[in-house]
Amino acid sequence: MREYLPGKKKMKEKILIVEDEKDIIKMLDYNLKKEGFRVIDARDGEDALDLAVGEHPDLILLDLMLPGIDGLEVCKALKKTAKTALIPIIMLTAKSQESDKVVGLELGADDYITKPFSPRELIARIKAVLRRADEKEKVSEVFQSGGLRIDFARISVNVKGKPVELTSKEFELLKTLLKAKGRVLSRDYLLDAIWGYDHAMEIQTRTVDVHIRTLRKKLHSEAKRIITVKNYGYRFKFEGED
Ligand code: CA
Repeated sequence: MREYLPGKKKMKEKILIVEDEKDIIKMLDYNLKKEGFRVIDARDGEDALDLAVGEHPDLILLDLMLPGIDGLEVCKALKKTAKTALIPIIMLTAKSQESDKVVGLELGADDYITKPFSPRELIARIKAVLRRADEKEKVSEVFQSGGLRIDFARISVNVKGKPVELTSKEFELLKTLLKAKGRVLSRDYLLDAIWGYDHAMEIQTRTVDVHIRTLRKKLHSEAKRIITVKNYGYRFKFEGED
């Protein structure tokens, strides 16, 4: 997900600051740039969602107290949108927002820091979250469970040792379901995640069902891994689950 310049050193991570207090933005901007990060900022929730989709930041610092759409709503929206769902989020909270902090973590935020904080502490948190995000990507390069083996780097799937030929959309579908770690994904979400916003009009949510059907057929005995959730969508079933 990171940006690379061909033949050059890896670019520094881009951080999106979502905060309405000018002094805090200024302080964060200064300290993050000093560490070599690239910095963009949004003053409200709507701006934050636009920038998150358009700029693909590597991490979002999200203040919970924002004018308009509040931070928790922004967090929820980011996690629901395929293009932004995997961007790590660190919440900036006030002492009085203990319960919001818990909700935020349940919604998928990665960490939080309570105001007032020192820049040094924040930067340590940012680096830890970025490192974890990196490790997550590495660990998940091969998935093996029961008779199913998926190699994400080689884009290959085996069922009981035999290679299975999937189309790119079928592979993306399987990967997306697996990476949701058992959460149910709606047809709309899958359509957006795999076919994108700019899909042709004739591609309907039914397309998802059609691809699920062919994917199941190809997975043979492992077809049971893909569970239909009636009137909603699909989820991946892990081994040992009831
Ligand atoms: Ca604020």
